[in-house]
Amino acid sequence: MDSVLVLLHTESDGSLAKPAFEALGAARKLADALQGSLTVGVVGAAVQAAADAAAASGAARFLGVAGPEFGQSRYATDAAAAEAICKAGGASYVIAPGTSRWCRVLPGVAARVGGQADTHVTGLSAEGGITATRWYYRQRMEAVFSRGQRPWLILLDPGSQPAWSGATGSAHVELLDVPVTAALTRTGVTGVQAPSAEEQTIRPDADLLFVAGAGWTKTQSDGKAHTDQAAQLILDFLRKSRASLGSSKSLVDQSTEGHGVLPFMSHLNQVGQTGATPRHPKGLATCCHGEEPHAVGWRFITERRAVNLDPSCGWSRGKADVLYVADAFQVMSRVNDLLAERAAGDRKQ
Ligand SMILES: Cc1cc2nc3c(=O)[nH]c(=O)nc-3n(C[C@H](O)[C@H](O)[C@H](O)COP(=O)(O)OP(=O)(O)OC[C@H]3O[C@@H](n4cnc5c(N)ncnc54)[C@H](O)[C@@H]3O)c2cc1C
Repeated sequence: MDSVLVLLHTESDGSLAKPAFEALGAARKLADALQGSLTVGVVGAAVQAAADAAAASGAARFLGVAGPEFGQSRYATDAAAAEAICKAGGASYVIAPGTSRWCRVLPGVAARVGGQADTHVTGLSAEGGITATRWYYRQRMEAVFSRGQRPWLILLDPGSQPAWSGATGSAHVELLDVPVTAALTRTGVTGVQAPSAEEQTIRPDADLLFVAGAGWTKTQSDGKAHTDQAAQLILDFLRKSRASLGSSKSLVDQSTEGHGVLPFMSHLNQVGQTGATPRHPKGLATCCHGEEPHAVGWRFITERRAVNLDPSCGWSRGKADVLYVADAFQVMSRVNDLLAERAAGDRKQ
């Protein structure tokens, strides 16, 4: 009988992040469809808390590789740990969250265990055999495919699956012994350089994606550009709403060509054909035209709204669910006021 292994890694505090619960949910569903057993495998500095968080998933086995050397993202130790869990689990299907940590390691692990790996999978189906779904050509074509080789390692794109939830319990974890040789730990993480949480504008878990377009820096009706005001309105909105910030290509290109426009914007914020295709429940585009390349970046946004002065902009041609034909400076200023009023009301209660 086919069995399923879900392969997870802990976060630095020993917990599991949302993509891990999404993979767990998909693995549970697949095991049910196959009428096979589910094994949960966890890698981390300590794995008990993570296994306990998955205890109610009905997994038949919990396998772990734990120790300080397995707490950090490092190819050699991650690959050795994942290989040990795959071999001990002996499953036909290995489901894992498509985090940067696992995407780097699992294709190599597939070679070590004689299997095959697929990344960026967005769906699994058990109808007429097990098939996976993924997008190609910058999210323009969706393919449904299957593989005969086992184990099949499947990395699920974060945000593509509903997250599993269940009560925390007490899991019996079989800890596997993976010898930590000097060769495995030759590379080490000495520190992390990242913007502080306040400065961080890309928030994959945010409910809202706020996209700024080049219009924010263009000459306005008074004959002047108001870039400083635009920066202040956008940052104020992000602080108050905790939305994630996206950008059109035109706007990020301006900032990297030395124009000093919207300094907090980088190519990492760019959404679209040559940018990211994030997954948020809602999206609000402001001062951007919304033509086809940009709409590619919005493919996985469930509810799309836009603010544009031009009633004939690309958004009005079926790209947005709601288009507000309005001045984004005025709209966002009013939205920020309303958010401030709401926050003041919350504080009083
Ligand atoms: C190969 C290739 C790949 C590309 N990849 C991408 C990509 O990944 N992502 C991407 O975004 N683009 C991409 N582009 C570029 C894309 O085709 C567009 O040129 C770009 O998206 C336009 O950016 P924009 O809408 O911000 O700017 P513009 O087209 O300049 O639009 C600005 C908009 O702001 C509006 N506006 C101005 N002032 C206000 C105001 N006060 N209130 C409200 N609205 C206002 C205007 O009406 C206008 O519609 C790509 C192009 C090519 C050729």
